Amino acid sequence: MFRFKRRNFLKSINFKIALVFALLLLITLEIVGAIFVRQLEDTNLRQFKSQVQIQSYVDNSIAEQLATSSTSKANSQIKSILSDINNSNIDEVQVIDNKGIIRGTNDINDQSIIGQKTTDRNVKNAIYNNRSYTKNTYDTQNNSRYYISIVPLYNSSSTGNNSQLVGVLYVRANMKSVYNTINNIMVIFAGASLIAIILGLAIAIVIARAITKPIEEMKQQTQRIARGDYAGQVRVYSDDELGQLASAINNLSIRVEEAQESTEAERRRLDSVLAHMSDGVIATDRRGNITIINETASDFMDVSAEKAIGNSILDMLQIRDDYSLRDLIENQDELTLDFSSNERDLILNAYFSLIQRESGFISGLVCVLHDVTEQQKIDNDRKQFVSNVSHELRTPLTSLRSYIEALSDGAWKDPEVAPGFLKVTQEETDRMIRMINELLSLSRMDSGTTRVDMELVNINEMFNYVLNRFDMILKKDDNPAKYYTIKREFTKRDLWVEIDTDKFTQVLDNIMNNAIKYSPDGGVITCRLLETHNQVIISISDQGLGIPRADLTHVFDRFFRVDKARSRAQGGTGLGLAISKEVVQMLGGRIWVDSVEGHGSTFYISLPYEPYEEEDLWDDDSQA
Ligand code: ATP
Ligand code: MG
Repeated sequence: MFRFKRRNFLKSINFKIALVFALLLLITLEIVGAIFVRQLEDTNLRQFKSQVQIQSYVDNSIAEQLATSSTSKANSQIKSILSDINNSNIDEVQVIDNKGIIRGTNDINDQSIIGQKTTDRNVKNAIYNNRSYTKNTYDTQNNSRYYISIVPLYNSSSTGNNSQLVGVLYVRANMKSVYNTINNIMVIFAGASLIAIILGLAIAIVIARAITKPIEEMKQQTQRIARGDYAGQVRVYSDDELGQLASAINNLSIRVEEAQESTEAERRRLDSVLAHMSDGVIATDRRGNITIINETASDFMDVSAEKAIGNSILDMLQIRDDYSLRDLIENQDELTLDFSSNERDLILNAYFSLIQRESGFISGLVCVLHDVTEQQKIDNDRKQFVSNVSHELRTPLTSLRSYIEALSDGAWKDPEVAPGFLKVTQEETDRMIRMINELLSLSRMDSGTTRVDMELVNINEMFNYVLNRFDMILKKDDNPAKYYTIKREFTKRDLWVEIDTDKFTQVLDNIMNNAIKYSPDGGVITCRLLETHNQVIISISDQGLGIPRADLTHVFDRFFRVDKARSRAQGGTGLGLAISKEVVQMLGGRIWVDSVEGHGSTFYISLPYEPYEEEDLWDDDSQA
């Protein structure tokens, strides 16, 4: 952790600024120091050299002594002159004559060298070349610097311009004092520099902090924005560039939040639109894997949205065998898919469209699933109906044609067959007319143009009236094998129901007719009338052929007959129950059948009923 922090600090702007500051300071101080020390050294050296310069009158008096012929006298004179030189910087002074012989030294302990020939090469050169000579040397033995000066001495008393070299003056001075001073100053300077650098570094860190603190805060704020937390605001410390950046970030944060909110709202809107659509919607990515599936679609597919997402749309729609993703992308035709199962019928139309960017890049596919089960069913029904009608009409027409052909072929002249043939043609024509009329009334009911004249009817009376009529017809029938009894089991109460009497009579007629027609051996037809708290229920039971279980749901379909040949032979069209059903539904009721094959059938009709007590009626009236 510490290491991590430390590395971070080394990378930070804070550190970099401080480092730059310190380096700048160091370089400046170095340069200033170098120039300063150099200058100081120069000045000090110049000063030192002037200090150790032997005054010219001393030079002159030595030169005078060298010029005299008496050596011993001159030497003692030189000795006394040299002893007068009182300069603490000067270590050694020698006087050498023009023959290279040492004539005097200020070193009292080394007077023995006087009279000897000098060994110093520089001195010899100076004498030989008649030139002055200066030199800085460094003596490694006692670790000190010396200044050596060799000055030629001329006899000034000689006449003329060409003064004569009489010897040289050798001076050696210790420069320790000069360098001591310089060293001291350098130490002070180095100390001052160090303090300056430390102070500078501290100031640099403080200043860098001041710069990086707002930057750090901005960094944190932008990180928060990235995480989706827009609550905070960066503090604006000043009106400089950093301050402007801080307020720009604050603005940005507000903008991003607004944009985010509007995207979110948009997404929610889209979600709710998708969720409440009656059509299924599936969106996929470029590879055909599902990314969005709405509730309707997942209901259609019978999978949860979580399970569907990520799966291929081809598998989901079960079309992998017939189509590839490329097919869907290349021609987005509509497909009709059958999702019917044992439990439900489901036929879907699938429409595909591409999700395409402006650049043309296809980023996915959208599939809209429309439930067309009902439509498909209606379509099938219509086709079935048309084929039924044409079939139903063709049969009587072909038989009509054959009878008419027979008649025109000469049968009309035969008084024995002609009337029979004509009777059949009449019957067939009647049946066709009846069928067309029934179809017309059905189509009127389908289009909703049938008029219903509702009236409050005592249903007990009405039912009795219809049954009485059948009793009359049956009595007239003189076939003893077909003896029917109509049994009535009615409730005692008078039931008043709102119906269209003509149409309801038609329904009862049809059911009664069926009961008789499909009970070839006669038997009892039981008619019941009873009421529940909100319904009147009529039932008509016979002891006839009954209806096979599989056909029970179909007997109310148009043109449906259990036994086509038999029914047709009896003049049936197969439309009676279909019309009955439409009528009952129009009256707000329900019709259904219960039957055991070979034992008889029971047809039930329920009608809506509001039980009025007679007092209630009066009460209502009195209140009104
Ligand atoms: P229509 O009534 O138009 O003269 P239909 O009697 O053949 O002709 P529906 O009344 O619609 O037609 O009856 C349809 C079919 O239902 C009949 O053909 C018959 O096979 C069957 N069916 C109806 N009622 C009974 C019944 N009481 N017992 C047995 N089968 C019946
Ligand atoms: Mg019928």
